[in-house]
This record gives sequence, C-alpha cells and structure tokens, in this order.
Amino acid sequence: AIMDLFGSLFELYPFADEKYGHAQFGWGGGMEHTTMSFMGNFSRGLIAHELAHQWFGDKITCGSWKDIWLNESFATYLTELVTENFDGDVAFKNWRNEIVDSNSWRCVTNSPNGSVFVTDTTSVGRIFDGRLSYRKGAMVLHMLRYKLGDVDFFQAIKNYLADPNLVYGYAKTEDLIQHFEAQSGEDLTEFFNDWFIGEGHPSFDLTYSQETTENLRIRINQTQSNASVSFFETPLPILITEVGGTTQLIRLEVTENNQLFILNYVNDVVSIEIDPDYHIISKNNSVTLGTISTILDADIKLLPNPVKDVLEIQVTNAIDLKDVIIYNSLGQKVRQVSSKIEQISLKDLSVGVYVIEIYTTQGKIIKKIIKK
Ligand SMILES: [Zn+2]
Repeated sequence: AIMDLFGSLFELYPFADEKYGHAQFGWGGGMEHTTMSFMGNFSRGLIAHELAHQWFGDKITCGSWKDIWLNESFATYLTELVTENFDGDVAFKNWRNEIVDSNSWRCVTNSPNGSVFVTDTTSVGRIFDGRLSYRKGAMVLHMLRYKLGDVDFFQAIKNYLADPNLVYGYAKTEDLIQHFEAQSGEDLTEFFNDWFIGEGHPSFDLTYSQETTENLRIRINQTQSNASVSFFETPLPILITEVGGTTQLIRLEVTENNQLFILNYVNDVVSIEIDPDYHIISKNNSVTLGTISTILDADIKLLPNPVKDVLEIQVTNAIDLKDVIIYNSLGQKVRQVSSKIEQISLKDLSVGVYVIEIYTTQGKIIKKIIKK
C-alpha cells in the first residue's frame, strides 16, 4: 500500500522489473505490523523511509554530500506523506507541530543555527545530521509545497524523477530547483537562499488593530535567529477569530519587515493566531492587540533622494496616496498634487532642502528631500 501511494503521488516503482519481489517482501512485512500499535507504526515509518530511497537515493542519487538532503529529506517527507494519506490531516499536522515548534528532541528550531545545505562535508555527523539533513529539509519541502500548491509541487517532482539527465545517475540541488521553477514559473532563488542555504528561522511579531470594523490593520515584524538571513520572505497563514467564534484562515505574503496589511473585515475580531497548522518553520511568535493608527516612515519611500528631476513616491501595497504638498525652507508651499500621482517633476525647483507632506488613506507623514 505504501508502494501504491508513492506510485500514485510520484511514479511507478523505478525498479519494477528486477527488484519487485524484494520490495514487496519489505512492504508485506510492514503491513503485518500495522495492526500492532506503537511498534507497528514505527516499522511502517522505517519501511516507508527505505522504500522512498528507491526513488530518492537509488533512482536519482545526490551528486555530492552537500546535496544529501535530496536523499534524506525526501525519504523523511515521503514517510510523512504516508502519515498524511493513511492517518489523516491531524496526524500529519501533529508531525509538523513536533518538528517546527515543540519541546521534542526532534524539533528543528531547538537550535538557532544550521542550514539544510551541508557546509562541512568532512563531518559525517553533519552530513547525516537528523535535525538538518532529514527533518529541516523535509519541512523545507513542505514549505515549498505550501508556497507552490500541491499541483505544481508534485508535478515538479515527477518531472525531476523523469529527467533523462538525472535518472539512474546523480542530481544536484540546482537540478531540483530548476524543475520547481520550470513547473511553477516562480523564481525560487530567494526561497532557497533563505531556507536551504541560510541558517536558522524567523520569529514573527504580529500587531493588529481594528478602529472600525471594516478596517483590520495587521503589522508584521520579523526577527531572525541567525544573521545569515536578513529576512525570510514567506507566505504566512493567520487564523482570525471573530466575535461569535467564526474563524477565517487568511494567507499573507510577507515580503518585508514591518509590513502593513489592511483587510476589509466586516466583523469584530477577537483573536489572531499565526500559522495554526504549522506550515512554516518559525518559533516564539507573538500576537498583540495594539494601535496602528498612523503609517510608519518605512511605508513610504522617496526616490531618488537627493533628487534632480523626477521624484518617485513609493508606497506599500496597503496604502493609497491622496495629496502631496511640498514646502521650501521658508515654509512656503511650492507644489501641491491632489491625486494618486506617484511621480512628481521637480525640475524647476531651486537647489535646497524641502519638506514634503504626504497624505494617504492611512494618515499623513512628513519627510525631507534634497533638490540638487
Ligand atoms: Zn535514509
């Protein structure tokens, strides 16, 4: 049954001709134990892991020790695909909970350091580090699945397993990335830089306010456990609970620090939970009901500054420009633009420092610019 599952998720058992009997013996042994409780499940996991290596390890072998995750993270994740398909979503979620954020020795965020990518290939202990090469890598695969969706995720792996340049030979991580990018059409450079090459994990601090019911503001701040990653860009699921208990799961695309999200929300919100189903590697997250009544300086950028000709006003997605007023150093109004125009020609202004007042749908902010 495990072999059938892998066959339907990915492709037929790659050694169907010569080794089918041997593998089926292993499969039969595993099934004998499924009716027993703990040991039975343990055996099933072991059998699933070793069977997964027939595809990830034997049909395609990692090209170097640096790429060991192509064998071990896949075998680890495929074992949990067995959990998902045989035991259900709750059991699968419990596994993610344990390895993302728990007191278990298996938890990958127990240490603030360490990359899936093997930097020291002289250390056997590091190459086969269970936390990094197995479990964190498996969770990185899951995050990729969450980011790309099931269709592209599984199809990209099928394409990888069918790549004539790789099968019954060797693959590097770049080969796998290339298949994920080709299938999804997404540039995954940043994803792999952060989660595969980079070390550690993010912590999210979410602040929300709701001055009016139709205006739920959420600001997300992120810190990183290791300096190798400046910011983990990621889709982030949040669960919003309304008065009366109705819940809504929303997915935010977190791309920069202190990012502001403004949601048109009809009902009163009583609580927000970050990533309740453990799809993203993160730890020590916090949620605060606070005040977000004014925009932050970081929400609006003036480029270039100093400026010679055209000033561009860049605003974050959640904010719309209303009015822009420019004053000279004497406090005289020299320009007023009452529209959503984000480019203003300053060619005719004399050289000097100017104060610029920017009115937006989220309040006013004052900045200085230098005219060259
Ligand atoms: Zn293994």
